[in-house]
Amino acid sequence: MTSHGFTYTNDMMLKSEEERKYNINSSKLKSQFSMNETGDCPGFAGLYEFCQLSCGGSIDAAQVLLRGDANISINWGGGLHHAKKCEASGFCYANDIVLAILELLKFHARVLYVDVDVHHGDGVEEAFYLTDRVMTVSFHQYGDDFFPGTGSIDSVGEGKGKYYSVNVPLKVGIDDDSYQELFKTVMDEVMAKYRPGAVVLQLGGDSIAYDVLGRLNLTIKGHG
Ligand SMILES: [Zn+2]
Repeated sequence: MTSHGFTYTNDMMLKSEEERKYNINSSKLKSQFSMNETGDCPGFAGLYEFCQLSCGGSIDAAQVLLRGDANISINWGGGLHHAKKCEASGFCYANDIVLAILELLKFHARVLYVDVDVHHGDGVEEAFYLTDRVMTVSFHQYGDDFFPGTGSIDSVGEGKGKYYSVNVPLKVGIDDDSYQELFKTVMDEVMAKYRPGAVVLQLGGDSIAYDVLGRLNLTIKGHG
C-alpha cells in the first residue's frame, strides 16, 4: 500500500498501528507535551490529522498570497495561537499561525501579526520574541489570572526583537468605541513604522460580548 509516496508492508502497518496506540496512551509523551485528559488539551484519535488540516490550511493560505492568487486568504480552521513548540495549551496543539508566518518570511522581510482574540497570543509572541522580522501585536483581556496570564504591557521582546512585541492589555467590559480608538491609535503607528510586507490576523470571536470565557463587550460589528 502506498501512501504519500511511502510504501508500507502489512508488517510495517501493524507495527505503526501498535506504535500509534502506544503513543496515544503514553503518559510520558502526554506530560512531555502538556497534554491531559481532564484539562483543555486531551489526546484523541485523529489528533495528528486534525493538526495536519489546521496547519496545512494556514500554510496553504500563505502560499496563495505568495503566488499572488489573492490579496486576502482565510483558514477558518486556524488561529491556534496558544500552542508552543513543545507544549499543547488552551485547546491548541500545533501553531498553524507560526508555520504560516515562517512561510511568508521566505519572501517577505517583515511580517506583522495582529491578534484580536480575547486571549493573549502567547504562542506566536514566544516564537518570534527574539526577532525583528516579525512584529506581534496582541489586544486581549488581562488581569485576575485570566488565561494565559501573559501579555503585560511590559512584554516588548528581547535582543534583536526588543520593541517588536506589542501588547495591549484590556480591562473587562471594553466597548466598541474605546476598542476602536485604541486599535486605530496603535495600529496606525505600527503600520507606519513597521511597513510589513504581509499581515497575519488572528480574529478569535471570543472577544465578542457574552462569550462564555471572555468578558469584553464588543458587538459583532465592532469586532468586524
Ligand atoms: Zn481565545
